[in-house]
Amino acid sequence: MLSETTKGGASWDSIDIELMTDRTVLKNLSELLRANGGILVCHLCDDVSELIAGILVIRASKEAWVLCGQCLRKIPLQGPVAS
Ligand SMILES: [Zn+2]
Repeated sequence: MLSETTKGGASWDSIDIELMTDRTVLKNLSELLRANGGILVCHLCDDVSELIAGILVIRASKEAWVLCGQCLRKIPLQGPVAS
């Protein structure tokens, strides 16, 4: 007997990805890290001189990627991230 319900449609719906580009949020996070002796550095290039442009939150795997502007543009998201 089948107990699991197979959902139809795109599997992407279950991968809850959110891109945070709110400057206030980024600034607050950066200041919070700095207060703890850390800095907000891009997860992909580790370049401390690059400004952080957004945080990609993957709820399904409870991950958060801090990304600079250059790396953010490399990620294939639906629609243009920056115009
Ligand atoms: Zn980067």
